[in-house]
Parts: sequence; C-alpha cells; structure tokens
Amino acid sequence: MLLLKCPKCKHEMKYNPSGELKGKKKRCVYCGFSFSILTKEGNNIVRELK
Ligand SMILES: [Zn+2]
Repeated sequence: MLLLKCPKCKHEMKYNPSGELKGKKKRCVYCGFSFSILTKEGNNIVRELK
C-alpha cells in the first residue's frame, strides 16, 4: 500500500498497486485529477504503508 499525494490539490490518499508502477495512473479521489504515479521528474509517492 502506498500513500500518494495529488500534485494538483495536494491531498494524500492510499493506493494499493498491482504489478508494475511504471505508466500507472491514479485518479485523485478529492479533485478528480488524473496523475501518473511515476513521472520523469520523480514520483507522487509520499511513503509506503505497511
Ligand atoms: Zn487532487
């Protein structure tokens, strides 16, 4: 389980990834913005949740 941060509204949300993260997108549950988990500049992962 990962904790992601929306690059648009800055809200944090949980995400349970399945398989490869590369190319995966997540729709923000707060503002509906769709963002890549991994970007060229870095990533939108805050931290890993155990
Ligand atoms: Zn958002």
